Amino acid sequence: MKNKMKSPLEYKKNTLHFDGQSLNLIAQKWQTPFYLYSKKTIEFYYNDFTLKAQEQGLDDILICYAIKANNNKDVLKLLRKLGSGADVVSGGELKLALKAGIHPSKIVFSGVGKTDEEIEMALKCHKNGIFSFNVESLEELADINRIAKKLNKVARVAFRLNPQVHAKTHRYIATGNKTHKFGILAEDILAGLKSKKYWSHSKLVGLSIHIGSQLTEMKATKEAIKELSDLALKINRPLEFLDLGGGLGIDYTEEERKELTSTAEYMKAIHEALDAFYYKKTDERPKIVFEPGRILVGKMGILISKVIRTKVSGGNHFTIIDAGMNDLIRPALYEAHHDIYPVMRKTKEISTDIVGPICESADCFGSAMKLPPMKNGDFVVIDNAGAYGHTMSSTYNERQRVKEVLL
Ligand SMILES: *Cc1c(COP(=O)(O)O)cnc(C)c1O
Repeated sequence: MKNKMKSPLEYKKNTLHFDGQSLNLIAQKWQTPFYLYSKKTIEFYYNDFTLKAQEQGLDDILICYAIKANNNKDVLKLLRKLGSGADVVSGGELKLALKAGIHPSKIVFSGVGKTDEEIEMALKCHKNGIFSFNVESLEELADINRIAKKLNKVARVAFRLNPQVHAKTHRYIATGNKTHKFGILAEDILAGLKSKKYWSHSKLVGLSIHIGSQLTEMKATKEAIKELSDLALKINRPLEFLDLGGGLGIDYTEEERKELTSTAEYMKAIHEALDAFYYKKTDERPKIVFEPGRILVGKMGILISKVIRTKVSGGNHFTIIDAGMNDLIRPALYEAHHDIYPVMRKTKEISTDIVGPICESADCFGSAMKLPPMKNGDFVVIDNAGAYGHTMSSTYNERQRVKEVLL
């Protein structure tokens, strides 16, 4: 196995096991393809995240799990039991979080396009509304204030700062630069604070950032924390929290295995930056909010698929499996790499393209992969599929959305 981070997968006598159980047996129980999730692995990553924060002296924290990474109801209930809140980006996600029993006082609402209906839903779900609307424009703040006034409520809001940093990640998942649609520039936040029109029914409770996803190095994160700290000091009014967003990456590729930032290193970098740019300059100690998605659920999930047939054409070898880009779109969307393992390992290997049945050339999970020759009915596992797998799936080509099983 190539995983560096903790994973539920392990070969025992050439048969792939998941949390100690033979995948050959598990794969036969459900119609393929299907997602398989490890409860133990989610618990490990959640507890590890909190522990590594504590080890850096970050005691007063709130984890708001980013539901868009994986919104399975059993996963949400498990995370709620472990103490997690939620970061939601739509009314639908807000409903899921509430249904899973996550208390509104632990829910933050992000996103540039919150509609009037969604804002109203969030304000009404509890007498105090939600923990925070992370607002992404002054125009949105005006809308929130107007709706809160209509409902005779006070909205708790945090500005999402656009810290103007370049996160080193795929350009589709970087979010912290001036050209991106996310967040508000510091100068506009300061102007917004001075203007009375926003604040009749809104209260500033925090500041937030989120600079991108699948981050493997901390330079941009530290820069962003500096910008956030500078702004917090300039505002000079008590804040309940600083929300540092999510984005910590996992080890999909060999390169990432070499340069990956571990959770311990991430917390250390965060603590160092907060210390240098904020704690040394003020006695305020606001709560630190995190919005992790991928790091909590990425490693706990796999997609199990079955070989439909193989095909040889013009010297190219294809292994056609029953999972497609509609089930897991990351390779097609971001040219993302996922390790693929045969459930039954053999010593002989060939070079083959692992492709799905969808009528798109992008429907390819890996080119020239070294795998044992496989035949119809053999099972394969696509690894590291717990985050942005099922949640991004679709019914393209009139296919059913696949089942999710929590072990
Ligand atoms: C997507 C998102 C996250 C989670 O990102 P990960 O890379 O999965 O940790 C956190 N906060 C916001 C605002 C997001 O949009």
